[in-house]
Amino acid sequence: MDDKPPVVYFRNDDVAEYDRGTVNLLDTFTSNGIPIGLGVIPFRLTDATCKFLLKQVEANPKLVEFYQHGFAHVNHSDTLGRRYEFGPTRTTEQQEQDIRAGKEIMKERLGLEEVLGFVPPWHKFDESIFPILGSLDFEYFSVGVWNQVDETHIKATPIHLNMSDRDASGRWYIKSFERLRREFDHYIKQYNTFGFLLHHPEFHGRDDWAVIEQLGRYLREQHKANLVLMTEAYAKK
Ligand SMILES: [Zn+2]
Repeated sequence: MDDKPPVVYFRNDDVAEYDRGTVNLLDTFTSNGIPIGLGVIPFRLTDATCKFLLKQVEANPKLVEFYQHGFAHVNHSDTLGRRYEFGPTRTTEQQEQDIRAGKEIMKERLGLEEVLGFVPPWHKFDESIFPILGSLDFEYFSVGVWNQVDETHIKATPIHLNMSDRDASGRWYIKSFERLRREFDHYIKQYNTFGFLLHHPEFHGRDDWAVIEQLGRYLREQHKANLVLMTEAYAKK
């Protein structure tokens, strides 16, 4: 590990419905002063969610930002077990139409001048998405650090660690603070800039939300980490 303190960001996906999880998510991050980037599903945004998100950004402009998480988060794959919204069964025109429409929705409903970040649902995509995103002025593409990204048209802003895992029955649960600490300490030896992924519907109670607070404190105190928004971590130089 080099001696510079790590730069760390959190990305939460599937923001669309106005529900308890969304409220708890924003409360937890903003009350602890931890920046949070939200992957928003444009076609599924409700009026109540927009109203809530607009208030959040007004109150905490430096702690909250939005990325476009696909269009409607629907599966267009015809192969069992391989879900994607943007992939080989979609023509370039279809992909372009969805992404353009989604961006318009987000700009209009969330009062944004621009949407810079794109997150494909399930982290699945094919190569044809990159020139489309470039032509629509996206600057950041966020998937797993293990995914191959063509950075000719866009900058990769990857995720390194998921805060959730599946149990034996396939149900998602939030990893314990101890486990996340161990995993972070292991991976940060390879990366100086680091992204966590979370999904608010997978948090099921106070203990789960407390993990974020514990993790934030640990990163700041033990690693002197700089907690930032994803786009800040990879701001174009
Ligand atoms: Zn998603």
